[in-house]
Amino acid sequence: MSNHSLLILAGDGIGPEVMAEVRKVIDWYGDKRGLNFDVSEDLVGGAAYDAHGTPLTDETMAKAQAADAVLLGAVGGPNYDELDFSVKPERGLLRLRKEMDLFSNLRPAQCFDALAEFSSLKTELVSGLDIMIVRELTSGVYFGEPRGIIDDNEGGRIGINTQRYTTNEIRRVARSAFELARRRSNKVCSMEKANVMESGILWREEVQWVHDNEYPDVELSHMYADNGAMQLVRMPKQFDVIVTDNLFGDILSDCAAMLTGSLGMLPSASLGAPMENGRPKALYEPVHGSAPDIAGQAKANPCACILSFAMALRYSFDQGDEANRLEQAVESVLASGVRSADLMQSGSGTPATTSEMGDAVIAALEASL
Ligand code: NAD
Repeated sequence: MSNHSLLILAGDGIGPEVMAEVRKVIDWYGDKRGLNFDVSEDLVGGAAYDAHGTPLTDETMAKAQAADAVLLGAVGGPNYDELDFSVKPERGLLRLRKEMDLFSNLRPAQCFDALAEFSSLKTELVSGLDIMIVRELTSGVYFGEPRGIIDDNEGGRIGINTQRYTTNEIRRVARSAFELARRRSNKVCSMEKANVMESGILWREEVQWVHDNEYPDVELSHMYADNGAMQLVRMPKQFDVIVTDNLFGDILSDCAAMLTGSLGMLPSASLGAPMENGRPKALYEPVHGSAPDIAGQAKANPCACILSFAMALRYSFDQGDEANRLEQAVESVLASGVRSADLMQSGSGTPATTSEMGDAVIAALEASL
């Protein structure tokens, strides 16, 4: 494989700690599998603010636009809580998502058998669970105008947000879900509230249009989002790919993710329009934040970040087999009993440190050869 460019933005708190373990994995792929990446590193979030007075410089933004993939750790922390909104660490991440136009947010909810006991649901309901939630990320009620808080002229106030979707916005995220389904079990469930929202009616019609005209081979069903939430906790294994809007996706993906146990295990990808090479613009990041409560203590679980790199292998670098290898390596580490503190019941042994977890993944990768 010719070299692909990968921009690493480790960020704040446990971000650099978990990213150090991903670097071991990247180096292993170079040494042992001939997958060489042109890796560059830069600052984002509080780290960028400390160095440059902004959570993301224009130079870093330009590098992100040019990279085949961006891998981000986490941003934020108590040192930055009092900063003006415009320079808060999270603004760096939001700028990346917005300017790269990352409209399709992929949140897998995959339950490793070794961790089924950590789910709040019964083991048989979640064991072997593997679903993918595709959330529209750049439009909908979080961005729609008009918005704001205004006086009602009767001594009270009115809070306004607008749910707004265009044909194009719905069709492009639907395509992304259908493409994914074709690589999985070929099944998409679209969720909205077409019973009470016009934007939901449009959503349903446009997803159906994309299906009928472009992906008739994929099985499509529609479900009201409130029923979807219920079904996710009743019988989650009925789903393969779920596609939904920004607001419902925000809630449903958190709900689905928690079926699987720990925040330290959850990767994500945000994809945009195809670049000249045909691959989508892409940002990969763990779902968790900078975890200031455990930062600097070698307690962070690096698996979410390592699994985010596995998603990059699959979706940005066409290395599905190698992504499977890496996911299986993580699974075998968990099954062997090597676990960071977040994956242990209290009092059940000595937890592995962040770097011991990373080393165990490398050992499992070696054993896979
Ligand atoms: P968090 O995800 O950082 O932490 C929540 C809890 O989960 C903490 O107890 C933490 O110790 C634990 N945890 C998280 N990741 C872990 C890991 N890899 N291994 C072991 N335990 C882990 O969320 P929070 O505490 O609400 O936020 C802390 C900071 O992170 C805030 O500044 C917040 O704004 C920021 N944040 C950033 C992102 C992001 O960068 N995408 C996402 C969420 C929160």
